[in-house]
Amino acid sequence: MKKSITNNKATNHPIPGTEELSAIKVLPGVEDFKSINESFIKAPKKAVLTASDYAHGILSGERGILSRAITIIESNAPKHFELGQEIIGLLLPFSGKSVRVGLTGVPGAGKSTTVEALGLHLCEQGKKVAVLAVDPSSSLSGGSILGDKTRMANLAAHPNAYIRPSPSGGALGGVTRKSRESILLCEAAGFDTIIVETVGVGQSEISVRAMVDFFLVLAITGAGDELQGIKKGIIEIADAIFINKADGDNKQRALAAKADYNQVLHYLQPATDGWVSAAYTVSALTGEGIDNMWKVVLEFVQNTKASGIFEARRSAQTLSWVERSVEDYIRAKVLKNTAVQTALEDAQREIGGGLLSPAKATKRVMDVIDGLLDLV
Ligand code: GDP
Repeated sequence: MKKSITNNKATNHPIPGTEELSAIKVLPGVEDFKSINESFIKAPKKAVLTASDYAHGILSGERGILSRAITIIESNAPKHFELGQEIIGLLLPFSGKSVRVGLTGVPGAGKSTTVEALGLHLCEQGKKVAVLAVDPSSSLSGGSILGDKTRMANLAAHPNAYIRPSPSGGALGGVTRKSRESILLCEAAGFDTIIVETVGVGQSEISVRAMVDFFLVLAITGAGDELQGIKKGIIEIADAIFINKADGDNKQRALAAKADYNQVLHYLQPATDGWVSAAYTVSALTGEGIDNMWKVVLEFVQNTKASGIFEARRSAQTLSWVERSVEDYIRAKVLKNTAVQTALEDAQREIGGGLLSPAKATKRVMDVIDGLLDLV
């Protein structure tokens, strides 16, 4: 008995099982066959985007666009500076709606383990967490103490998390302006929790303190019962000190360190008006105390919002960011000027040839800059 043949309407191929019984069969083939692999057509050619393209991409939460925009912000090229500032200008009204937490600690204190544990804890609650790093060592050497790539692999894989390694190049001031602007972009992209991590080197903690709402210091216990694993001067700016690695044999020592830190904190001016900074224990490894860490942050946010301190601090931070941006703009503009460039090159050559003292060279370049300003 012959079967009736039914053809697939879209491809006009017989639908399997409905064809005539015959030695020769027309195979259905692949529907919608393409002779060219689409990934080659859409290949990685990166279109040139305008500031408005970037802003739209970021507002619709496109990670790739966010990363590209942050790269522009981090670039030291003058043309990128202008594009970056334009993107920021467009996104500023959509920023600010996050909790910004700074976290510091000496190498080995457990920063990445803590950020990962806290980040996962928050992501599992449906929060969107961005982690930014400020690594002063990368400004100096181009390398990084934080060694970003292999850290926090589990958090990096979570769809609610975004991890951005530290910008490199330029002085710490430049790096921190870039981080501050990256915070704004992440907020515009919908991240409601921003964690800025820094390794305790040089002035980096002070810089991070100046861009976050809550500043958390991660400490570890020393071999004896003295206060170790924390830099002098850092306790003063901490909204909370968490003694990490409070697990196993170390738990008792961590509890003793907590009592010691609380005693020290008792005699200090509060880091934030109206908030009592305290010490706590945590184990980033077992996760014990991670929920409490976030509870402390939320309590802080609630208190400081109620007292107005939260907004006042943010305004002051914004003002200093504007000042920093203006300084960077002037610097970029002046160094781009051909007369200044020529003066600098001449000075370099003449100093190299032993024809000019550094003081005279500086004066000569300054005269050129003064001449430019007189024209304005
Ligand atoms: P970072 O240099 O501050 O980022 O420190 P890491 O997060 O890389 O941690 C340094 C070492 O301490 C790693 O071997 C971690 O596994 C370990 N570590 C981190 N947190 C804890 C903890 O809560 N308990 C214990 N026992 N070890 C921890």
